[in-house]
Amino acid sequence: MKNKVAIIGAGMVGSTTAYSLITQNTAEEIVLLDANSALAQSQAMDLQHSVPFAGFTKVQAGTYQDLKDCAIVVIACGAKQKPGETRLDLVKKNSAIMKDVVPKVFQANAHAVLIMVSNPVDILTHQAISLFPKKRDQILGSGTILDSARFRFLLGQHLKINPQSIHAYIVGEHGDSELPLWSTATVGNIPIARFRSLTSGVKRTIFEKAKNAAYAIIEGKQATYYAIASGVAELIETILFDRRTVWPVSHLMDGEFGLHDVALSLPVVLGRQGIVERLPVGINATEKKQLKQSAAKLRKVIQALR
Ligand code: NAD
Repeated sequence: MKNKVAIIGAGMVGSTTAYSLITQNTAEEIVLLDANSALAQSQAMDLQHSVPFAGFTKVQAGTYQDLKDCAIVVIACGAKQKPGETRLDLVKKNSAIMKDVVPKVFQANAHAVLIMVSNPVDILTHQAISLFPKKRDQILGSGTILDSARFRFLLGQHLKINPQSIHAYIVGEHGDSELPLWSTATVGNIPIARFRSLTSGVKRTIFEKAKNAAYAIIEGKQATYYAIASGVAELIETILFDRRTVWPVSHLMDGEFGLHDVALSLPVVLGRQGIVERLPVGINATEKKQLKQSAAKLRKVIQALR
């Protein structure tokens, strides 16, 4: 199989993801699909013209037939949050789109790993898995990769330490009920609790800023795309090159903390087949309670959609 990636939805998130892949020379080929085929054509053309500056990626606009030899299909199509709208407000519009798009993906290519990015990402990931339960480890959502990156960035800014040395996750829903795993966060291998300047007030402010970042960004520019695109490009690299890297992606719960029939983010190992290992995440009693509340909120939406 070629290192070929399809991106469905050539809007801000889809095209910026393609641009990230091109600048890093991650994929041999990228194919862009959009309900607005003129947009997909124009984005492909503009992206193609950046290739001579960057490397070798072949970029084109295409159709579902072009998915047949893709290793990964990214779904970034549909409506996005309007100012003041929550991710769950989007559910009806985007769930109707996924009922159409996801079967077309697997009809074209039964083996592709599907990365859901469209929101509400946990609900749409669960919906895709419900349509294709045998592919549950092949289907994942970008989940809280972005929230965790924002969290690490803000912690790094406060501590004046490179966020790459900070291992800290936000888990649960990619949205308002998400939670920070303070109990397992480390800087280097030092528990974060040892950093005295991180008082409970500072911790609360940092988490709230990470959680509400999308609202703040959308106020000013109506969309968020650079950071999510960088994150999705990293997921793609992990999968294409079987890197077995740990990411907090949205996936179907299989009894973790008593949770079933819901998709949310906890750290897992990703490789060429998608989710290749679930990790024995250890969290404290408060975090467990918050995780269950986050799952319960998502379950309500899933039930309302049925
Ligand atoms: P956008 O409006 O710029 O692009 C969406 C594109 O989807 C449009 O070009 C539209 O023509 C296309 N589209 C709509 N229905 C389609 C269909 N049935 N088939 C193919 N294409 C279709 O939006 P955006 O800013 O790129 O955001 C895309 C999605 O990503 C939104 O749902 C947004 O909420 C989500 N998002 C997720 C994260 C995350 O962390 N998971 C972050 C940012 C945005």
